Amino acid sequence: MLEKDMEEKQKLLSGLPSVDEILRSNQGMQWLKTYPRRYVLQAIREVIDLRRKEIMEDLTAGLSEEYMMAEIENIIERLSSYSLNPLINATGVVIHTNLGRSILSERALENIKRVSGSYSNLEYDLKGGKRGKRYIHVRRILREVTGAEEALVVNNNAAAVLLCLNTLAKGKEVIVSRGELVEIGGSFRMPEVMAASGAILREVGTTNKTHLYDYERAINEDTALILKVHKSNFRVMGFAEEVSIEDLASLGRRYQIPVMFDLGSGCLVDLKPFGIFGEPVVEDIVRTGVDITTFSGDKLLGGPQGGVIVGKREYIEKIQKNPLTRALRIDKLTLAGFEATLMEYIEEEKAIKNIPTLRMLLQKPEEIRRRANRIAKKLKKEIKDAHIEVMADSSRAGGGALPEVDLPTCIVSIKSDKISVNEFEERLRKGNPPIIARIKEGFLIIDVRTVRDVDLEGLVKGISSALSDS
Ligand SMILES: *Cc1c(COP(=O)(O)O)cnc(C)c1O
Repeated sequence: MLEKDMEEKQKLLSGLPSVDEILRSNQGMQWLKTYPRRYVLQAIREVIDLRRKEIMEDLTAGLSEEYMMAEIENIIERLSSYSLNPLINATGVVIHTNLGRSILSERALENIKRVSGSYSNLEYDLKGGKRGKRYIHVRRILREVTGAEEALVVNNNAAAVLLCLNTLAKGKEVIVSRGELVEIGGSFRMPEVMAASGAILREVGTTNKTHLYDYERAINEDTALILKVHKSNFRVMGFAEEVSIEDLASLGRRYQIPVMFDLGSGCLVDLKPFGIFGEPVVEDIVRTGVDITTFSGDKLLGGPQGGVIVGKREYIEKIQKNPLTRALRIDKLTLAGFEATLMEYIEEEKAIKNIPTLRMLLQKPEEIRRRANRIAKKLKKEIKDAHIEVMADSSRAGGGALPEVDLPTCIVSIKSDKISVNEFEERLRKGNPPIIARIKEGFLIIDVRTVRDVDLEGLVKGISSALSDS
């Protein structure tokens, strides 16, 4: 019995094609033309090994060669495809940190291509014919749009904060309110960044209330900096009080201690006329006389990842000379994207129209509803066994900006008669392109705020195919 079993297995094993045979088959030759040889070989070996193991374990005897070839092709495709891919953001969260934060404007994309597809004057002073500085390319424009004396851009805002603390307060004390020791997205925690910079955190006040006298009493000969941190992603409600940046700036002046504001988002246009309150405009902050302000490039500003430092020349010059600046420096692609994004801000109407982050945040509910209706109409035509409805809802800005603001939006809510909402969500997420949606009370929610016109076709196709092959 056992021997017969072994004989049977031997037969199956020797019936498996060899790597060479598969390579020489029509399909194998086709793969070699299309894909890298190493991936073709790797996939063939993987599948043959798997088949061998299955035969030894009595699992699949009799699987067709056709099936095997399809399996190989799947693996080759997986190995040869990109890991980082575009997707459809149907969450309504405009500045979604996990989904890449801000989408760049056409102008920024074009400029990245223009500059990085060629040699450039990145660090070359064309006037003097000698070595120049990369930072000067965004200096003038940043000064214009923020009103600051001097500006510097580094890798991201976390780097900007680290660099400022390290330059101005290494081995010395930095006064921060206990109500502002924030954590942003898990990896940026103010006390930890402070420790990494070599500065000593001097906490003052309480979680809910910090007064000007708390700061003043903490000042001593070791104080190097007073730091204010924007409560980007939370609010303290009720019995709460914080000290304004105006008051801190004048306290700093009185004691001749620099004052810094980590602003987080970096909003360059006033959103109040659009009914969005709570996000300070960088220019207004700079005007208070604060010495240094830092903010992100890819949050409300709507540009590439970056950290902007603006403020008084004496400090910025010191920061620029810190050897860490070299380690945290911005690359030329980002710089090109940054300059083009900032150029849009010279005329506010252009910024609002051309920068996707601002456009999506400020679009009118009627506009979102029109798009939602279009999507629903197309879906209803394709899908019969689902409940599809357009409804009003609200979305969030994301990216640690405007945590309390509900932006009126329009959603397409879908419930399938055949599959569970969790299964539905998973199929969309694993589709091509992936569609990231929300689940609410048993319904799948497509928040149309972040679905762009160019996404419409892929969205409708993705949803109908997720609901069809069940
Ligand atoms: C987002 C944020 C940061 C981190 O900025 P990155 O650009 O993500 O590095 C730091 N501080 C505050 C207050 C923030 O909101």
